[in-house]
Amino acid sequence: MSTKRAVLITGASTGIGSVYADRFARRGHDLVLVARDKARMDSLAERLRNETGVDVDVLPTDLTEPLDLERVEQRVREDGRIGVLVNNAGALIPGGFLGQSGDDIAKLIALNVTAVARLSNAAAPRFAEAGEGAIVNLASVVGLAPEMGITVYGATKAFVLFLSQGLRVELAPKGVYVQAVLPAATRTEIWDHAGIDVNSLSGVMDVGKLVDAALIGFDRREPVTIPPLPDATQWNAFDASRQAMLPNFAQTEPAERYQPTA
Ligand code: NAP
Repeated sequence: MSTKRAVLITGASTGIGSVYADRFARRGHDLVLVARDKARMDSLAERLRNETGVDVDVLPTDLTEPLDLERVEQRVREDGRIGVLVNNAGALIPGGFLGQSGDDIAKLIALNVTAVARLSNAAAPRFAEAGEGAIVNLASVVGLAPEMGITVYGATKAFVLFLSQGLRVELAPKGVYVQAVLPAATRTEIWDHAGIDVNSLSGVMDVGKLVDAALIGFDRREPVTIPPLPDATQWNAFDASRQAMLPNFAQTEPAERYQPTA
């Protein structure tokens, strides 16, 4: 067993989550892997145990199933060895809003929003009590870009970004680090599941490079890490203009432009 904090990673059977598992194992952290595909996680776990010597637990879970999710919440709440939570599991549903069913949307929200919020809620009190710990949330640049027309997915990722920023405000003073990671297109199976040929996209990042960059942001304790963005001052300016509005919201009267005309 490692003396370092164990890392629980959702969506660890493939893609970004499986690379996070690899990288944290190489840093000497024990792991708890969460996803639906047990066989894939077992084979990843065996490789990582053999190559790095860390302990790896596999929790087969459908995070859209309330009872399954509750079991993982309980593990996060009660297992004091877990000091890092990586909320990575996520999906993209095909098509535009007009073609999506209410059930598909609800399932997407259950995975991309509800599971992230509930697992963060399970981890935060224990981490805050300990005065340490980290929550890493996989958002997306799509959450900054309604123009892309990937509306519900983007809305879930805007939630994840806001949740991360808000949790940082609440938890940083208690010693807990919260990071939002915003990848752009990254070469994983997520595109196949959404019926999109990843080779039809331009500027697709290799998944190993994405996670290694995100971990540089993690080590720097960045609140928001956008690996593909060349010029960080663009994000800083965007965030600064949002913050500049805040002191202006408390008004007893509507703004001049909303005053009734005579
Ligand atoms: P991926 O290759 O499709 O992997 C998704 C992971 O989530 C898999 O391990 C999958 O495992 C798990 N998962 C899916 N549904 C689940 C469920 N109901 N319960 C439990 N686990 C479930 O996707 P990825 O590209 O690595 O994406 C990881 C995260 O990065 C997501 O949050 C995604 O939105 C975000 N992201 C990705 C990109 C990109 O271009 N790839 C860009 C921006 C943001 P099982 O099938 O075994 O359950």
